[in-house]
Amino acid sequence: MHQHILSEQTLTFSEEIAEGVYLLGFSRDFSFRAGQVIGIGIEKDGPRRLYSICSGETEEEVRILYNVIDEGYLTPRLSDLGQGDTIWITEPRGEFLYDPARAIYIASGTGIAPFYSMFRSGQFGNKVLIHGERYLERFYFYNEFSDALGDDYLRCCSGEEARDVYHGRVTDYLRNAATLPEDFKYYLCGRAEMVVETRDLLIERGIPFNQIISEIYF
Ligand SMILES: Cc1cc2nc3c(=O)[nH]c(=O)nc-3n(C[C@H](O)[C@H](O)[C@H](O)COP(=O)(O)OP(=O)(O)OC[C@H]3O[C@@H](n4cnc5c(N)ncnc54)[C@H](O)[C@@H]3O)c2cc1C
Repeated sequence: MHQHILSEQTLTFSEEIAEGVYLLGFSRDFSFRAGQVIGIGIEKDGPRRLYSICSGETEEEVRILYNVIDEGYLTPRLSDLGQGDTIWITEPRGEFLYDPARAIYIASGTGIAPFYSMFRSGQFGNKVLIHGERYLERFYFYNEFSDALGDDYLRCCSGEEARDVYHGRVTDYLRNAATLPEDFKYYLCGRAEMVVETRDLLIERGIPFNQIISEIYF
């Protein structure tokens, strides 16, 4: 069986950026490709979970964006840690990577992380980004995305209404979209329910399944 190479990292910060949503960081001493994930544990031999890297390939700091699942094992404990505390990580892996083809990126919740990593790595040509969240305060990278992408960045908010924000879920938006280009790739990232529902909807609308690339946070 493949043994994961583990390294110990010291947190440079950990911050609750919206209710129950945390961003943590540590100094980067390895290379990775935007879109990849690492395993994180709080003890060397304890349980680990996977997280998308949420920072650019050449940034000095690696950041991770995560939701605290109250009944979960790792995330409540992780959120208790602060600057100077240590975590254990596995080497980066994963194939959810940038491709220069025209594409629509669709994220729900913390599923924005790999797309933000690509964005911070200068890998965002030819892309439209659709982000779904329940609350407005959770469009964490709104300013950066909207400055760079303009109308190619769309927010779908199911729990609150605001100007220039589609009121509803990402899947509602796609269901009601007049056209969905058939020659684009569709990259989906987020919780299983959203990814599976979106994938089915795209297939129903005639998008070939080999143009749909998914990263599921199960
Ligand atoms: C490839 C990959 C990348 C991932 N990247 C991220 C990421 O960047 N950010 C992030 O926040 N998570 C990410 N996840 C999810 C993450 O790995 C954990 O599953 C999550 O953080 C819960 O861990 P836990 O130990 O706290 O809960 P667990 O002890 O694993 O789970 C407790 C219960 O909560 C349920 N549960 C798990 N996740 C959720 C959820 N999101 N909402 C509601 N219920 C849930 C589980 O099914 C289980 O029943 C990713 C998962 C995968 C497979």
